[in-house]
Amino acid sequence: MQDPVPAYPIFSTDSLRAWIDGLPPVRALLGSEPGGWRIREVGDGNLNLVFIVEGRAGSVCVKQALPYLRAAGPSWPMSPVRAYFENAYYAAVAPHVEGLIPRIHHYDAGLHCTVMECLSPHVILRTGLIEGRRYPNAARDLGEYVARASFFTSDFARPFEDKLAGVALFAANTELIRISVDLIFTDPYRESARNRHTSPGLDAPVRDLRRDAALKVAAADCGRRFLSDAQALLHGDLHTGSVMVTEKDTRVIDPEFAFYGPIGFDLGACVANLLLSWYSQPGHATPGNDRSAHQRWILDEIKTFWETFRLRFLALWAGHGRGDALPAAMFGAADADAAALQAARGAFVDSLFADMIGFGACKMIRRIVGFAHVADFERIADADLRARCEARALALARLLLTNRRQFR
Ligand code: ADP
Ligand code: MG
Repeated sequence: MQDPVPAYPIFSTDSLRAWIDGLPPVRALLGSEPGGWRIREVGDGNLNLVFIVEGRAGSVCVKQALPYLRAAGPSWPMSPVRAYFENAYYAAVAPHVEGLIPRIHHYDAGLHCTVMECLSPHVILRTGLIEGRRYPNAARDLGEYVARASFFTSDFARPFEDKLAGVALFAANTELIRISVDLIFTDPYRESARNRHTSPGLDAPVRDLRRDAALKVAAADCGRRFLSDAQALLHGDLHTGSVMVTEKDTRVIDPEFAFYGPIGFDLGACVANLLLSWYSQPGHATPGNDRSAHQRWILDEIKTFWETFRLRFLALWAGHGRGDALPAAMFGAADADAAALQAARGAFVDSLFADMIGFGACKMIRRIVGFAHVADFERIADADLRARCEARALALARLLLTNRRQFR
């Protein structure tokens, strides 16, 4: 059990202005007098307050954790300590993923709040994809991101003592891990008051899904791996709503679900949400644009994402494989050693593909029949059309999850 968190003030635009006025380095970034700052709350997520503060010289983003789930209100209390884990994650990966996360200017543990770089003119990747926009670097950058963040926090890169210290720190992020366990791996496969789906269009497939014992075993198996396979530090919620983009730049945000788990979980989150976007496209078609070209582009990007991840992970391993797992020092004796080491590394990365498929399928399913849905489908006003798009996505997810080791 965690200790109770002392009460703390929740920011309004006025109290935030006064607080920033007392932070000289942040004040300097903004320039001008506090009265001239433009402050607005822009949070669109499930959990936190997010403010944008604009001054004459620059702008910052302030994210404060609320003591309850924003999407549900005070009836669903939640510890704001998640802000601590979000910061700990940024600090742990920052040396390895420079330029792919926002710069962190200030963190206040008592106020459960972070002041970070305001990403502008970036938009949330999910929103851009719904609007039919292309971001030529996003998938490649995300493949690079997951390769770097996961490789450098894994046992392949570091002595196990360092890694276990990280495991211990993030093991205390239990409240958010509980949300993932319940909402991703359990609730979608049973009746729960927190579930919902497009009805009546999806009633029959959802009934079917909850009676599919083989599928439930596969989901439970993924859930077990999620809890027990601490391969690397994960972002923990790496969907297209946690990525902000321009045509040139890609940034990963919102790592409050961070903990040590299977790398395929982060990989799967990216792929799942790109697939959900693919399936939602007919729901956003217009008379002049049936979105089929956009779908083809999204499929290509999924391929780019995986291939970039695979190549970069192996390249990082070749250059920085100094950890205690599969130690290169064991493989210097005979000529056959180098080939054996390379084959073992290749086999490990291939195993991540099956994990990506399995975890990705779980993430698709929870977004269609569980608590938190995605704007890609929610923004389709015609419920019949939405149900048709969702039903196709659900069918693919079931196929992927049940046969997750058969895909190449
Ligand atoms: P939550 O955990 O509540 O989902 P997020 O970290 O995802 O919060 O932030 C919610 C929204 O705030 C994002 O979708 C984005 O629109 C905006 N946002 C978050 N961080 C930044 C940032 N650094 N710069 C600009 N906008 C941001
Ligand atoms: Mg969040």
